[in-house]
Amino acid sequence: MHIAGFLLKQRAGGRAPRRLLAVFLLIAVSFAAGMWTRGVIDRPLYADAGLTYIEDIPVTTDFLPEGSRARPGGPREIQYLVIHETDNYSVGADAAAHNSFVHQNANAASDVVSWHYTVDDHEIYHHLPDDEPAYHAGDQMQKDGGNANGIGIELCVNEDGNYEQTLINAERLCARLLIEYDLKPAKALKKHQDFSGKVCPAKLIGSDRWDAFCAGVTERYEALKAADENASTAG
Ligand SMILES: [Zn+2]
Repeated sequence: MHIAGFLLKQRAGGRAPRRLLAVFLLIAVSFAAGMWTRGVIDRPLYADAGLTYIEDIPVTTDFLPEGSRARPGGPREIQYLVIHETDNYSVGADAAAHNSFVHQNANAASDVVSWHYTVDDHEIYHHLPDDEPAYHAGDQMQKDGGNANGIGIELCVNEDGNYEQTLINAERLCARLLIEYDLKPAKALKKHQDFSGKVCPAKLIGSDRWDAFCAGVTERYEALKAADENASTAG
């Protein structure tokens, strides 16, 4: 009764509309502040190429959970692109299957593995931010090593996949990342073998095609660089 009487008095005094406006403004300001805070929290703390497509190849980002054993956390300096092959010839062992695998094993009790990208003949999965270390090169967290400073890239070899197309997609990804991180192909392109001695990428090495792969990446890298330079001079 008392409250109702008070409201009635306010209304009679003509202050209610102003009060309503004040309340509305307060709500608007808190909403804006909330959105701003969310923006700050949501802002990624890592550097990443943020790729969604490379030409017609979709890149799906599905990062391992922060704090999982396979994601020790960054940031770090990116020096290399470390090329691997999955060695999994099974039907269906494509990029999506390896994305499931790396997620399922993100908190494995031992032999934790992780890497950044998996490439097959039709898509690419992105498992970790580019500037975070991972466990793929077999050299612990050695300074200037493959795990500490390399972006790990797995190429699928599933027998129902088109390996030649997988190589082309990997060349495209590597060229883009070299541009993104201002790396030189001759210095940055590495085999897993360069860090731990494991014969990986086995098929590329076994068929004596590593140099041809690097030449393919370099050609695409030069083309992207020339296109960038043309665009900047045109602009
Ligand atoms: Zn490997």
